[in-house]
Amino acid sequence: MIVMKFGGTSVENGAAIDRACSIVGERISRRPFVVVSALGGATNGLLQAGELASRRELDQALAIADTLETRHTELLPSTASEFARLRELLRALSAIGEFSARTQDLIASYGEALSSLIFTEKLRQHGYQAAHVDARQCIVTDDNFSKAAPVPDETAARLERLARPHIEAGRIVVMGGYIGSTAAGVTTTLGRGGSDYSAAIVGAAMNAEEIQIWTDVDGMLTADPRVFSGAWKVKEMSFAEASELAYFGAKVLHPMTVLPAVEKKIPVYILNSKRPAGTGTRITAEPRPCRNLIKSIACKRGITAVTVSSSRMLMAHGFLRALFEVFDRHRTPVDMIATSEVSVSLTLDNTSRLDEIVEDLRALGEVKVDRNMSLICLVGNNLKYTPGIAYRAFGSMRDINILMISHGASNINFSFTVDDKDANAAIEKLHSDFFREFDAEVFEPV
Ligand code: ASP
Ligand code: MG
Repeated sequence: MIVMKFGGTSVENGAAIDRACSIVGERISRRPFVVVSALGGATNGLLQAGELASRRELDQALAIADTLETRHTELLPSTASEFARLRELLRALSAIGEFSARTQDLIASYGEALSSLIFTEKLRQHGYQAAHVDARQCIVTDDNFSKAAPVPDETAARLERLARPHIEAGRIVVMGGYIGSTAAGVTTTLGRGGSDYSAAIVGAAMNAEEIQIWTDVDGMLTADPRVFSGAWKVKEMSFAEASELAYFGAKVLHPMTVLPAVEKKIPVYILNSKRPAGTGTRITAEPRPCRNLIKSIACKRGITAVTVSSSRMLMAHGFLRALFEVFDRHRTPVDMIATSEVSVSLTLDNTSRLDEIVEDLRALGEVKVDRNMSLICLVGNNLKYTPGIAYRAFGSMRDINILMISHGASNINFSFTVDDKDANAAIEKLHSDFFREFDAEVFEPV
């Protein structure tokens, strides 16, 4: 049995869904369990409608519902009844004037609830035997709305009961991703982008042979192809490498995906639904050895670096604690940290509270803010065993100014920040140095 997950762009319209159905049909002998995202953009639309309704802009909210209804009923007319219910909900929201996390999950759940019904029907139209299972009956979670965590044993038991018999009978099972419910039956979601997570939860619970994430890229690449045209595809990488890359902005795989699959050593494939003949990227617990030092160069743009300098206080007892308390108080996560004798530099992704943070930090020392920075990250298992990575990396970029450096605790990443305007040149130079030759076992041209 395999899990095949199709993301929003792979089910965005009738043509995409037909393509996805053929991809599933070609793999029928492997007994597919399909997990689908909402139609591309539907989750955003639903949440926006809920937001507008709760701000008492009901007309605009209902207009979004109309647009979504047209999109869905064109694919499956019977979904109209669900939209009647959605409108009732939106009206209730505008009467109450609030949009709690619990209600957000309920509204957002329409996306996957509908896409999974549509996908099931399309498979039948293609002539396959397909069974729909409701994620809200299978994926049991806690009640941490908008970011619920699965309860693995209960989920596994439900899947065995509700989905396994269909698989045994040779039917393709289809379930919406992203959504679940509490033991008491209240709808929850696993967090944005959570369909990958659903796929991993199902794969782990049902001991799948593999999990296939069908998306709109060929797999993990050695660099962002929009920045660098000479990037190659990585045929195989470790879970640790993939999650490192996901964190650094390679928006191919939800990092949480890796967790349930890693534990059970189930391989995850990233595959392109627009080019299904490709071999994608295989992500496993222990990939084959690689002759290149790194697998990929990731980059996160628009990073802000904050540096606090204080010759007097830095080494004093309690200084770092006071410093981190500031970020904690303003609920702002810190990405990367570098310290020197007299200063501490930190990078932030989220700068919505920057002014308040800077004001509080002034009590600790002199504060400098560098906006428009890029965080560049070299990722590869081999970095664990290779000394001198900094020397080599910086040798490739002699004329580029580097602000902060960090060799991640996982030992498989080496990151540093440069000015945004230097990022492309840095990536190009690093790529031509670290990928002068490619290990043909591990990389392939795109
Ligand atoms: N539809 C959800 C979202 O847009 C979940 C997913 O697509 O993975 O966040
Ligand atoms: Mg996604």
